[in-house]
Amino acid sequence: MNRVSRRVRAMVTALAVTAALPFPVVAQSAKGAAKADPRLEKLKVEALAKVDARATLIQQIIDQVFSFGELGMQEFETSKYLTGLLEQNGFTVERGTAGMPTAWLAKWGSGKPVISLGSDIDGIPQANQKPAFAYRDPIVAMAPGHGEGHNSGQAVNIAAALVVKEIMEREKIPGTLILWPGVAEEQLAGKAHFVRAGVFKDVDVTLFTHVGDELSVGWGRSGSQAMVSVLFKFRGQTAHSAGAPWRGKSALDAVMLMAQGWEFKREHLETQQRSHYIIRDGGDQPNVVPQTASIWFFLRERDHERVMRNFDAAKRVAQGAAMMTDTKLDTVQIIGSAWDIHFNKAVAEAAHANIKRVGLPRWDDNDQLLAKSLQKEMGAPDSGLATKVSDLAAPPPDNVVWGGSDDIGDVSWNVPTITLSYPSNIPGTPGHNWADAIAMATPIAHKGAVAGAKVQALTMLDLLLTPKVVADAWDYFRTVQTKEKKYQSFLGPNDGPPTFLNEEIMAKWRPLMKPFYFDQTKYKTYLEQLGYKYPTLKPAVQ
Ligand SMILES: [Zn+2]
Repeated sequence: MNRVSRRVRAMVTALAVTAALPFPVVAQSAKGAAKADPRLEKLKVEALAKVDARATLIQQIIDQVFSFGELGMQEFETSKYLTGLLEQNGFTVERGTAGMPTAWLAKWGSGKPVISLGSDIDGIPQANQKPAFAYRDPIVAMAPGHGEGHNSGQAVNIAAALVVKEIMEREKIPGTLILWPGVAEEQLAGKAHFVRAGVFKDVDVTLFTHVGDELSVGWGRSGSQAMVSVLFKFRGQTAHSAGAPWRGKSALDAVMLMAQGWEFKREHLETQQRSHYIIRDGGDQPNVVPQTASIWFFLRERDHERVMRNFDAAKRVAQGAAMMTDTKLDTVQIIGSAWDIHFNKAVAEAAHANIKRVGLPRWDDNDQLLAKSLQKEMGAPDSGLATKVSDLAAPPPDNVVWGGSDDIGDVSWNVPTITLSYPSNIPGTPGHNWADAIAMATPIAHKGAVAGAKVQALTMLDLLLTPKVVADAWDYFRTVQTKEKKYQSFLGPNDGPPTFLNEEIMAKWRPLMKPFYFDQTKYKTYLEQLGYKYPTLKPAVQ
């Protein structure tokens, strides 16, 4: 999910002044509970100090994962490092969850409530960038990098989990913690498989966390779109393109006609839909009629039902293209999918009370200088870093969408879920871009994640010690959210996880990126290892 869209959403929600509050009682109880329970209050004070004491750990995790810069389904170094760390800290780790080699579950504790903590771990192609540089300057040109900031979320969750685990052990508080990674979130390829594998079956609440440029949380539909990511493969017959073209059946022709057909179809679709495609395989060389070709579509709409309608239309367009070219529609393969997001009200309210308590990090002059310099470089308003916490975001009107999708949607329709956004990045960046990597191994990312970990730890304590928050969460989930709409996976029985994603790209870049992996045994920070000044500003043009 990108932060630009989140801001659009915030604007939209600001307009939704008439947002109804169906459960005012829940709001009072969630907030009131923290004040009413002196033991909880004492433990919260302790947790805040304990997170601060883990600031170095948070910085190390962020810097380490940043240096790996791995793309979806290829997060091997990242997962090896994170699971190793969790095992050292007493978690039991299961690897290869749901058939994805880089996926894992790390569990600790026993009994109820079961709290799951998730955050994405994958990077962005071509987003490799020197951290702390306020302009485009890669470490390894054209290599992948963390141009979304997914290198920071596990630091938030792990620090919070270790703090709360320590308190639970001493206080003998029952409960189970499950940490997990969002694998290949950029392709929306992981979470539906987690759901199908039963990862959330016994979970009471999921506290997801995602990098942002503010400390915020929302409830209800987020305005994200449901989506299928689907590959259409055509098969024809090869021939000499000049010597015997009449003997060839071009799979590429089918791909191009399908794209053209979809452009005509687009005119007659509802305006909220978003659909886009790339040609994945277009043949080898012009004098060989392509016997295979494939086109990769993202089809987005407001909900599962509308996406399926458009998916069916796309399949008909594909059949038509095959018919026109005497080729065959060989495979229709789902690569990824996402439900539209719906966040839980009771949990969001509890988290928001904690957000207000934690507040934004204390930025120093260097943090603001980097932020404003980058904002100028990107042509964005030079507002600097956020200094005020956001209001609790209410849902936008039903027909308003922000276009993008996030497969946390699937989780959110299976168990009460929220996404905490924490301020580890700079406002005004485009998202999915090298510019979004600049802050991600600097004090901005480190401080933002400390704030995020504090909120996460406090909300975990709320869930562990105030059963009413969990009960209210399920009441909202059952009687409001899923009253008329039930989850149904986009995945068919034969749709396995696309573990092949990014294999070739990472095989090419990994050897070139390896010399730049963060070495925690020799250096305190990644910036120190690289010898970069914080911040490094663009040299003035002479
Ligand atoms: Zn993301």
